[in-house]
Amino acid sequence: MNIHRFPRKQDGAFVNAYLVETETSLVAIDSLLTVSESRAFRAELDQLGKPLRAVLLTQAHPDHYGGLTELVAGDDVPIVAPQGVIDAIARDDDVKEQILRPMFGDEWAHERTFPNTAIADGASVAFDDAVFTVIDLGPSESPHDSPWVLGEDERIVFLGDQIYGRKHCYLADGFFREWLQNIERLRRRLPADAVLYIGHGGPMRAEDWDWQRRYITTFVDAVTAADWSQPEAAKATVVALMTEFLPTDELQFLMELSIEPVAEQLGLVARA
Ligand SMILES: [Zn+2]
Repeated sequence: MNIHRFPRKQDGAFVNAYLVETETSLVAIDSLLTVSESRAFRAELDQLGKPLRAVLLTQAHPDHYGGLTELVAGDDVPIVAPQGVIDAIARDDDVKEQILRPMFGDEWAHERTFPNTAIADGASVAFDDAVFTVIDLGPSESPHDSPWVLGEDERIVFLGDQIYGRKHCYLADGFFREWLQNIERLRRRLPADAVLYIGHGGPMRAEDWDWQRRYITTFVDAVTAADWSQPEAAKATVVALMTEFLPTDELQFLMELSIEPVAEQLGLVARA
C-alpha cells in the first residue's frame, strides 16, 4: 500500500489531499480547493493507472470538497462522509460561493459536487487490504469533521484539520470548545506512534496535539484579553500575539478571518 500526498510540490501548498494506492485501486481522501489543483490531482491519479474507487471526506470546508468535480471527473464513485458532513456542505455551499467567488474567480468550481454516500460513526469501507474507518466528530475545526483511520491498528490516520502543520488556523466557525474536546478524545483513542496525515502540512505525530491545543487556547485568550472598545486595535493586538506565537504568515489570513467571529461568539462585540 502506498500513500501519496498532493500537491506533490509542497511549496506554498494551501491544502493537501491524499491518494491511498492498493493493489488494484485508488482511494482519495479530500479533493483540494481550486479547479487547477484538483485537475492536476486527477491527472496524477490517472498516471498511477488504477481506477478511483471512492473519495473519503475529512470535513465540511470548501478546501476539502471544492475540487470534487475535477477529481471524480465523471466517474460514478461513492463520495463518503457522515450525514452531518453532507448536510453541512449542502447547507453552507451558497455562503461559501459568496465568499470564495470574489477571492478565487473561476478557480472556485462553478459546478460543485457534493458527497453522495453517508456513513455511520465507526463504520468502515474496504478496498483490497485497505480498511478505512470513520470517526464522526461532529463540530470541531469545521461545522462537521470526520477523520479516517486506516487499518485495525489505527496507526495511519487521515486527520483532516484537527492539527495544522505549524500554520495559522481557522477558528471562525466558533467550535473551539468542541475542537479542544476532540483533541483529547483523539489523543486517547489513537496509538502514540500513529502517523497523522493532515489537511495543511504534515505528517504529524501524537506530540503535536499539545501544539494545536496551545494554538487554540492562545488565540482565544488573545481575543478575550483584547480591548474591544477599539475594534481595529484589538484585532491588531491579536494578530501581533499570534504571529509572535507562530512566526510565519502561512495561512495567517485564516487566523485574521477568525478574530471577529470569535469575539462575537464570546460576547465581546455585538454580532454583525
Ligand atoms: Zn482545511
